[in-house]
Amino acid sequence: MKLKALGCYGGNIPGHGMTSFLVNDTLALDAGWVSNALSLRQQERVKDILISHSHLDHTCTLPFLIDNNFTAPGFALRIYSIPEVVASMRNHLFNNQTWPDFTSLPNDMTPVLKLVEIQPEEPFVINGLKIRAVHVSHSVPTAGYILEDKKGAVAFSSDTGPTHRFWEITNQTKKLKAVITECSFPNELRELAKVSGHMTPWMLELELKKLKKDVPVYIYGCKPKHLGIIKRELKALKIRNLHVMVQGRTYNL
Ligand SMILES: [Zn+2]
Repeated sequence: MKLKALGCYGGNIPGHGMTSFLVNDTLALDAGWVSNALSLRQQERVKDILISHSHLDHTCTLPFLIDNNFTAPGFALRIYSIPEVVASMRNHLFNNQTWPDFTSLPNDMTPVLKLVEIQPEEPFVINGLKIRAVHVSHSVPTAGYILEDKKGAVAFSSDTGPTHRFWEITNQTKKLKAVITECSFPNELRELAKVSGHMTPWMLELELKKLKKDVPVYIYGCKPKHLGIIKRELKALKIRNLHVMVQGRTYNL
């Protein structure tokens, strides 16, 4: 599958601090940097969005993506997540205060936006991709996602501290091609990482011992202010096949 890093914190360019990936041009994985990274024509091609959790750095371009394309003929968007995250988007984002409730616009019969609840670990299919959500351990309810096509699978943890079930499911996944996971803070900020449900390089080193498959691990989510030191600390781990993702790069996985 083709996965483009629209926003992943990994470079000194606009959009770092935001998380979003584009899969096969039509499916977005989180929406921290979709409308900003894509042209209007590219935005129209995005039909489905998986949201991992309600934090703004993963959701903040949803309102503008919809607003930009609302009047385009045939435009319709489906946003999927676990029930707690869908509830949060209904109550705090598309609530007719922060932003219009596009799930009833232009009318209730043919809204441009559908919010779709998915159940953890129950597979569903979007455009030939088999997808499963898996709970991870962040400060708010959060799902990682396993995406599989006929050739291979990618496991995206989203924001998480040390977690368990995600690695169990990832290890059971056949044809696993890559893992995308986070490392937000440098080692000296480990207490902050612990209370906020994030990783440091040392925590990541322990966490990756749970991964039983020899696949590349791509890191996103390094806080921009600490990117240099996090990269140095990750390198010092000397873990083979560990890479910090590069924003704007397309990965064929
Ligand atoms: Zn978060």
